[in-house]
Amino acid sequence: MKDLKPLFPELEETGRPLIIAGPCSAETREQTLDTARQLADYGVKIFRAGIWKPRTKPGGFEGIGTPGLEWLKEVKEQTGMLTACEVATRNHVTEALEAGVDLLWIGARTSANPFAMQEIADTLQELNVDVPVLVKNPVNPDLELWIGAMQRIYNAGIRRLGAIHRGFSVYGKHLYRNVPQWHIPIELRLRFPNMPIIVDPSHIGGKRELIAPLSQQALDMGFNGLIIESHCDPDAAWSDAKQQLTPEVLNFILHTLVMRSDKEVTENLTLLRQQIDRIDNELLEILAKRMEVSREIGRYKKLHRMPVVQANRYNDVIATRVEAGKAMQMDKDFMKTILLAIHDESVRQQIEIINDRNV
Ligand code: PEP
Ligand code: MN
Repeated sequence: MKDLKPLFPELEETGRPLIIAGPCSAETREQTLDTARQLADYGVKIFRAGIWKPRTKPGGFEGIGTPGLEWLKEVKEQTGMLTACEVATRNHVTEALEAGVDLLWIGARTSANPFAMQEIADTLQELNVDVPVLVKNPVNPDLELWIGAMQRIYNAGIRRLGAIHRGFSVYGKHLYRNVPQWHIPIELRLRFPNMPIIVDPSHIGGKRELIAPLSQQALDMGFNGLIIESHCDPDAAWSDAKQQLTPEVLNFILHTLVMRSDKEVTENLTLLRQQIDRIDNELLEILAKRMEVSREIGRYKKLHRMPVVQANRYNDVIATRVEAGKAMQMDKDFMKTILLAIHDESVRQQIEIINDRNV
């Protein structure tokens, strides 16, 4: 996927992030047009609205379906904005393109399914269209599956291709609705430097108050744009009410975002980076020391025929360190992730010792 083209060259010339905004779902003609007019007045150029909604359970609002496409046509005629909607099947693609939708995105539940992705790709190829397509990351944190989904679209001849980072689902309660795991989109950017990556703070955060900080974080990391849910009456929204913003609040947030330039490399920054390099080396040495002690414990456990993992000890280690980390301004989830990774490696090393006949 080397020869990708800009999604919308005329909008990207400014070097500013691409902004896509609109309701989670098109609900009624009035709600769609009211939201669109307000967004257009605030200068938004691309309008999103879900027409077909993939819901976790049956019985919820599953999207207005085909009639909503007429409203998107009206949005375009009345406001001049480009329009975007989610597609998941052959029919969605055909109908959306017939209705003149300018940008298609593929949802997280669909990009996790290679059969559905291939069906969408085949349809695009048969129609031989040059439409921009954005592929959301699959619900599970699987970079290869995400790349595979995009390759299917690329192989169908689409060159205006981009990714949307919308976070990953995890079981249980978290600060985020879908945890960002930023290292995954960062790895994607390293592998495909020309691929535009748009961040979806609405689905990552799941709540209004997280939209501004997540958007700033996305820009600070140099991602190329934002897709944000906005509704003329968010509390009354038929889907994702908690995370939608009024166009007014959205506009306020967009104006508070700070664009940073990656061209300013100052001497001070170089010094700070050297400091980070040194600290990283120290971290590695300390980790290696910890593993050495772990292996010693492994030898002891082997001698006394003890099991490798003792649940009480393990829970205690995690709990005390998470608390200590919190006191040092480190996030609970971050502490857990890092401790679990260290613990996994310790266990692996101890098992190696237990299975080694020469020890
Ligand atoms: C959406 O954008 O409204 C949507 C359904 O998103 P996701 O596929 O990321 O859940
Ligand atoms: Mn939504």
